[in-house]
Amino acid sequence: MKYKFTYDQKQCSGCLRCQLACSRAYVKRFQPSSARIQIFASGEEYRAVFTEDCVKCGFCADNCLFGALVKFPEEVAA
Ligand code: SF4
Ligand code: SF4
Repeated sequence: MKYKFTYDQKQCSGCLRCQLACSRAYVKRFQPSSARIQIFASGEEYRAVFTEDCVKCGFCADNCLFGALVKFPEEVAA
């Protein structure tokens, strides 16, 4: 199943668990820079960007403990 996501920067702690989970799953290393989601910090503000090679698996959201990144099933086209 593929997912779409909501991201609430007010809930985001900047912990990078999402990036760690993605990189562990896809490059077999805890290497946030290799993740297919990137969290950018600017002062107190955070921003989430998915890279083009994201497969929408939802694993990153499963590992967000702060409720900032939430997954929803993508609607299946009729
Ligand atoms: S949905 Fe999957 S591939 Fe995309 S950023 Fe999250 S863990 Fe990585
Ligand atoms: S989205 Fe969740 S897992 Fe990712 S940095 Fe923010 S709080 Fe951490």
